[in-house]
Amino acid sequence: MKYALPFLSLAASSLGALSVLATDLQAEEAKGPKADDNLNAVLWDQTAVEAKATMAQAYVLARIRFDEALADKSRTADPSVQSGDFANKPPAVVLDVDDTVLNTSQYQAWNVKGGTSFSPKTWTAYVRAKIDTAIPGAVEFTQYAASKGAKVFYVSNRTKEEEPATAERLKELGFPMGGNVDTLLTAKEMEDWGSAKGTRRAFIARDYRLLLLVGDNLGDFTDAYKGSIEERQKVFDDNAAHWGKDWIALPNPTYGSWESAAYGHDFKTPPEEQRQKKIDALKTWSGPAQ
Ligand SMILES: [Mg+2]
Repeated sequence: MKYALPFLSLAASSLGALSVLATDLQAEEAKGPKADDNLNAVLWDQTAVEAKATMAQAYVLARIRFDEALADKSRTADPSVQSGDFANKPPAVVLDVDDTVLNTSQYQAWNVKGGTSFSPKTWTAYVRAKIDTAIPGAVEFTQYAASKGAKVFYVSNRTKEEEPATAERLKELGFPMGGNVDTLLTAKEMEDWGSAKGTRRAFIARDYRLLLLVGDNLGDFTDAYKGSIEERQKVFDDNAAHWGKDWIALPNPTYGSWESAAYGHDFKTPPEEQRQKKIDALKTWSGPAQ
């Protein structure tokens, strides 16, 4: 019972033990709100102007890179799914949705406050509330790309059931939608569209030239995102030429495959064990000389 709460280890069979338990609980309450590993990340994501500045900068860069890629027909942002004669295909940009164009921090904040974590049920209810805000710079960038004739695709792991509310919220916020083309490609919408997004990028690449990929997760750029921390580092290094050129990454310290990499992407790992594995993954200073 390495991770059991301290009071469970007390023999609660006597009144004495119960009074110790009561004292422990009172002491816990006196210390203030319960700790949550996501508090600082969500606070940063939701309130820090430093976060907003970083996101806005990413979209300023995206616009510069978009113009370059539009002018150079030899370019594709994803050679793994696009090769051959693509120079004269109409241009497209591909963006993730959650925490790339829509800020979902109110859901993370709800979990922090309630001591809960992600569940498909509460997530769907959140999506249907349609309260996401736009990531700084995202509406302006996507409108710009659309005004220059590019199709703006949103490749999201929201589900088909969550698609109508997502489309409505994107539209309300001013994001360009595809007209008669379905540009919001959700998970499982087609049989081979799993949570890895490569098959959806390949689907777009059949008819369009991919100018830019924009996302907050390694999986928004490559299907090789579920490895260990070391394997992900290698994927990052191997794709050095893409970053800041035709792959534009946004910061997300609140969740993502970077986080689950620390515990082998096994979401059944108990929270305390996840925390221990994250601590174990840190490289640390040896401390001051004695
Ligand atoms: Mg995302």
